[in-house]
Amino acid sequence: MLRLRVHWGGGMWIWGLRSVALRLVRSSKMSEIKPNDAASEPSGEDKDWAAAKAFFDNLKTKVPRPPKPQYAVTIAVSSRTLFNMVAERKIFVEEGMEKYVAHQVEHENEPLKPGAAFPFVKALMNVNARLRELYPDSEELFDIVLMTNNHAQVGVRLINSINHYGLTIERFCMTGGQSPIGYLKAYMTNLYLSKDSNKVTEAIEEGIAAATMFMPEKDSGLSDTQLRVAFDGDAVLFSDESEIIVKQHGLDTFFEHEKKFENLPLAQGPLKCFLEALGKLQRKFYAKNERLRCPIRTFLVTARSAASSGARVLKTLRSWGLEIDEALFLAGAPKGPLLQKVRPHIFFDDQMFHIEGAQEHGTISAHVPYGIGQKYNKSKLIEEPEKTK
Ligand SMILES: [Mg+2]
Repeated sequence: MLRLRVHWGGGMWIWGLRSVALRLVRSSKMSEIKPNDAASEPSGEDKDWAAAKAFFDNLKTKVPRPPKPQYAVTIAVSSRTLFNMVAERKIFVEEGMEKYVAHQVEHENEPLKPGAAFPFVKALMNVNARLRELYPDSEELFDIVLMTNNHAQVGVRLINSINHYGLTIERFCMTGGQSPIGYLKAYMTNLYLSKDSNKVTEAIEEGIAAATMFMPEKDSGLSDTQLRVAFDGDAVLFSDESEIIVKQHGLDTFFEHEKKFENLPLAQGPLKCFLEALGKLQRKFYAKNERLRCPIRTFLVTARSAASSGARVLKTLRSWGLEIDEALFLAGAPKGPLLQKVRPHIFFDDQMFHIEGAQEHGTISAHVPYGIGQKYNKSKLIEEPEKTK
């Protein structure tokens, strides 16, 4: 049976992952915001959690406890997105598994360098610190789960690196090469970040918000006090229904279509639930009159033009009861230079040419492999090679 090692406070506890996973699985819509109002009658599952919490509460530790997945905003990151493991990966590819593991063990007291998701994770920790100040007993926090298919021996270097940077990551999921989807569901994951586009695609197909992360080509200073998240609109927060009209019928038909259906909300896209989860935490700051000092800021960065197609997206967000702090309509202008000013910890887009443009300007980018845009490069249809029989 697969086993999960949970380092909690001073003790090392081994839980049977399968039984934990089974207890955690609740709903088919895993990336949706989690309910706060538990049923009046506690379920067996709730009793299990209450018993586990009471047990650990008695152990007395100053280390912050991971929140219950039901209430947390859970972010699953792969080890290769949290840390820069390019050199180690090269050893794995060129010299094989044994040499790779030996190298990692030999260097296990040497912290890995930060990777693409590192500043984002650090910013999540800052938000948690502010939330703990305002709500000491609340479990509505970000919870980070490290997903890795690394060999168990490499786990020591990962743990040492996490401790070196003072990250609070207590949940590890060593998948041993298996698909992470079942684990992502078990942890009720709100966002999954990986370098492996196949796993990300699989997660999106299962209804889990997910993206493939890329390192920028140069560094840009990021805020230490505010988590800044930028989203593209079509095929990211929204479905690709309008994108299909642009691709198949051109811009004029798209403008007419968006005007005609201005009052009909767009369907939700793969990242909508993550924006919703951010909004839930933002409102906790607003409730304490901290709107101006809110440590989370969200941006819509869309190629749409405001006058001819902007109203529908704003009305859609309003119909969902979601706020976005800043909406930037670029009317087809490149996103890179503007993102350089926004300086997000992460920028999500479904089209690779926007990701590449953002990277060139020093923006940490995450590709969402969803929708019709995957078949196009800029506005040109990518010719698929004929399948040989
Ligand atoms: Mg898009």
